[in-house]
Amino acid sequence: MAQLQRLAIAPSQLQDRQILLTAQQQHYLYRVLRLREGDRFLAMYGRGHCWLAELAAVDAVAVIQEEVFIKSELDVEVTLMPALPKGNGFDDVVRQAVELGVYCIIPLVSDRTLLKPSSQKIERWRRIAAEAAEQSEREIVPAILEPVSFAVGVENCDRKYRYICVARGNSRHLLDCLLDNKIEKEEFPIPNSQSIVIATGPEGGWTDGEVKSAIEFGFQPVSLGSRILRAVTAPIVALSIIAGVLDRR
Ligand code: SAM
Repeated sequence: MAQLQRLAIAPSQLQDRQILLTAQQQHYLYRVLRLREGDRFLAMYGRGHCWLAELAAVDAVAVIQEEVFIKSELDVEVTLMPALPKGNGFDDVVRQAVELGVYCIIPLVSDRTLLKPSSQKIERWRRIAAEAAEQSEREIVPAILEPVSFAVGVENCDRKYRYICVARGNSRHLLDCLLDNKIEKEEFPIPNSQSIVIATGPEGGWTDGEVKSAIEFGFQPVSLGSRILRAVTAPIVALSIIAGVLDRR
């Protein structure tokens, strides 16, 4: 099963036990992978379902055979709230965050955010997330939500463990905070309310007011070490630390 190609499918593609393949998926399966009628692949259906599917005689259709249960998700849902970095740097953040097991990404427009993303950009990030989920053999395709202002993101956050990465000062290291919170000892399955959120700042960092406001809303300021990381590096380091703790449970 492990060698089978994974393909993310949208709810609109499902019809009874059939998958209506898009032109792009047909091109990929038939031309790039050179699969034929009767060949199988794994269809990843949004959040949590994965099916073994077989290509039918008709080019545009695959037939669902059975549900497949795989285990590649972190036991705790981890949400990343990164302030949007400038340029195209966020493409790599999305790709690598998905590889590291992120459950959901909520892009933040903070006081010092320079990028104002278009709807095409957001669609592009969702495509990148789907490709990365297929490549890294995830069970789900992580959600990339619409960007929100820092205030909305912080005030509406209902995750149990909330961290905000602060580059300077004397915050405790994220790893120590995770261990203090006994994140590594939680039992599976974890209810959503016990999930984690981690916020990382833009190139210019957070304003003092943003850090203060986050703390008021229950965020714990954390350090990622003694060096100043780029805005595109910090989310990946933070997620690596969290995934490292959760993966060794
Ligand atoms: N000049 C900014 C400052 O002094 O805050 C640097 C911002 S840094 C390039 C971008 C973001 O990455 C920061 O806002 C923070 O969220 C995160 N970050 C970078 N290095 C970090 C570190 N060592 N510990 C915690 N967070 C860090």
